[in-house]
Amino acid sequence: MNITIVGTGYVGLISGVCFAETNNHVVCVDSNEDKIKKLNNGIMPIYEKELEDMCTRNYKEGKIEFTTDMKYAIQKAEVIIIAVGTPSLPNGDVDLSFVYDVSKLIGKYINGYKVIVNKSTVPVGTQKMVTKIISKIQQKYPFDVISNPEFLREGTAIYDTMHMDRVIIGSESKKATEIVIKLHEPFCKNILVTDPESAEMIKYAANSFLATKITFINEIANICSKVGADVKKVAEGIGMDPRISPHFLNAGIGFGGGCFPKDTRALVKIAEKNGYNFSILNSVIEANNRQKTIVIDILEEALNTIKDKTIAILGLSFKPNTNDIRESPAIEIIKAIQKKYGKVKVYDPAALEEAKKILIDVKYAVDEYDAVRDSDAVILVTEWEEFRKMDLYKVRELMKSPVFIDGRNVYDPSNMKKNGFQYYCIGAKS
Ligand code: NAD
Repeated sequence: MNITIVGTGYVGLISGVCFAETNNHVVCVDSNEDKIKKLNNGIMPIYEKELEDMCTRNYKEGKIEFTTDMKYAIQKAEVIIIAVGTPSLPNGDVDLSFVYDVSKLIGKYINGYKVIVNKSTVPVGTQKMVTKIISKIQQKYPFDVISNPEFLREGTAIYDTMHMDRVIIGSESKKATEIVIKLHEPFCKNILVTDPESAEMIKYAANSFLATKITFINEIANICSKVGADVKKVAEGIGMDPRISPHFLNAGIGFGGGCFPKDTRALVKIAEKNGYNFSILNSVIEANNRQKTIVIDILEEALNTIKDKTIAILGLSFKPNTNDIRESPAIEIIKAIQKKYGKVKVYDPAALEEAKKILIDVKYAVDEYDAVRDSDAVILVTEWEEFRKMDLYKVRELMKSPVFIDGRNVYDPSNMKKNGFQYYCIGAKS
């Protein structure tokens, strides 16, 4: 099939490469010239396991191409996938301007029947709105708009796409549904066809549910640390109940990234616009914001003051195996330390370049040992494998004072104490 993917970010690029892998011809189009130039030179604009190899191979075989030429991209395609960003507006609403801009261009350049598949996360009613925009510009060529929310996770995005656990198709057209099923069948047979409104809602409901689950265990952790219980054991115990499941029960310093924070805000707004107060989700957002800076309280307790102290931050990305720092807890933590006149040294295996675009007055280390050298405290923010495997004795030797805050509950407390650390984690008595 000839597929065009509009937006070559985390979703668009990964989907494009995976559709090429299953023998489609893919055109990836993006308005960002720099990104397209990099891709045409074999440079990946994002960090994702296996991406470079798979992308380069398909590019050499002529199965994927990268362009900024929207007319060419639209006219070549039978299926046009929209994968542009849908960021938050300052009031929490969704900024749909990128989706609408693309819809207008499809209306302008359409040259035959097209299936338009929306993978961007969008509020209920967007499929109808996109249909309306295109119909207003042109009535000559038929088209169908499908809502097809994306569930890949950064860090395991290629695997997630090649082994999708489900495909949601929100459609009003049998013909278009069949085309989208055919496109996704090599990845997954678990397909739910529904109306576009339900499909759009499924994505927000899924992300909000997961965000709530994380926040619930974080709240339990905060109580555990007060009453002397251990959240890891509590999570293990409740996770044995199949109705709860052990997944997404790792207590820590809160969720971040390009999806959960913005999608929870968006669902609150969608509810609000329809006269409903989504009270649980409001509390989730508030509790998660508080959770991100819980380590600041621990730091102050351990060091008395943060002023003039050097704090090493291990991990900047919002989760391991990605360079994405959007709404990462690390950013909030660093800003809070700086506000209290502390000095910050950071290291991340993949996200340093992204961080340099937004973080100022921060020392960038070359590795984890360089980061902890002469520090008064270390905060583990992102649980990269590299940090799990650190030589803890060496870390302790390099530090000026032994305060170690494990924001992701990665280390064994007794081992940390044996190595001479003043060790703090989330959800257990220190
Ligand atoms: P991103 O910011 O990484 O990529 C979006 C891309 O769209 C950018 O490269 C941008 O230049 C391009 N773009 C914007 N306007 C354009 C236009 N008019 N024409 C061509 N290109 C344009 O975003 P992302 O993380 O890939 O997310 C895309 C969508 O998918 C969002 O709605 C997001 O919520 C959703 N989503 C993301 C993930 C994830 O893990 N990142 C997972 C599931 C769903």
